[in-house]
Amino acid sequence: TSEAPVRTRIAPSPTGDPHVGTAYAALFNLAFARKHGGEFILRIEDTDRTRYVEGSEQQVFDTLHWLGFSWDQGPDVGGPAAPYRQSERLPVYREVAERLLADGHAYQCWCSSERLAAMRTRQQQLKIPTGYDRMCYGKTREERAELPGFTDVPVIRMLAPADTKVSFEDLIRGKITPPEPDDQVILKADGFPTYHLAVVVDDNAMGVTHVIRGEEWINSTPKHILLYTWLGWPIPTYAHMPLLRNVDRSKISKRKNPAARLKWFQEEGYLPEALVNFLALMGYSMPEGQEIFTFDEMVESFDFARVNPVGPVFDIDKLNWLNGHY
Ligand code: GLU
Repeated sequence: TSEAPVRTRIAPSPTGDPHVGTAYAALFNLAFARKHGGEFILRIEDTDRTRYVEGSEQQVFDTLHWLGFSWDQGPDVGGPAAPYRQSERLPVYREVAERLLADGHAYQCWCSSERLAAMRTRQQQLKIPTGYDRMCYGKTREERAELPGFTDVPVIRMLAPADTKVSFEDLIRGKITPPEPDDQVILKADGFPTYHLAVVVDDNAMGVTHVIRGEEWINSTPKHILLYTWLGWPIPTYAHMPLLRNVDRSKISKRKNPAARLKWFQEEGYLPEALVNFLALMGYSMPEGQEIFTFDEMVESFDFARVNPVGPVFDIDKLNWLNGHY
């Protein structure tokens, strides 16, 4: 992947008021792409219909534009890999799921949600790792239908190799070896892919070379690497950004912290340049500890070696101080 032109992306889900983490991810993806003369893509990950909130896609565009960010490809600007909304790409994911099925890297599962819930409870009581117990693996529909907890419409699960951990080299953290992946569902009963399948299919289709995202996805990365390997696709380079934290060190959330909502900064009258500068200081340090700088200055010296993976605290006093300088 080193010769391919750098291409990064953010992939927000339209689930309501945009989260400040979306701007944080956009900033670092954009800075890296600009530094290397590459492209930055915006993709909408709307495969979870239960969490979909009408109008939130437009709010993502509006708040990112307010910050001065723009993208080279996306649902509103088009591009060679269009469409950029996952709900419009369902046949693409199904085809890949069926290929994995045919190659023996995936299997159908007819377990009812009641059976899966009972299985999880039992695993927790026994204090054994939770994960699918492979009741359906190797069974035909007829064989499985004889057994309890059967439902008519199957999902497709990936077949994670037993007792295998997958390591990868992270640009910020070095070598990481997360826990063993389990047999993750890749295609749901409603025909929608899960995040794990869609993210791999789209990052490949869109030629994404560097996946820069929050650290909450570290344990998912082995699943994605397995999928890339089975499909014979180049594996992107990963950089997992630190989570933004409340002053009590908990993960920043809209419930605990009004500043988790991107629109809060607009409502409070902060200057977009001050917010960009503030987000750039979250876990990142400029040469010589420079504190007040523009996006272009950040791009000039941008390097993942300057990111500290220990979760930065979201300190509004610091933002107020910066805001006074713009
Ligand atoms: N849709 C995911 C999110 O909302 C994207 C994660 C990723 O960048 O892979 O965070």
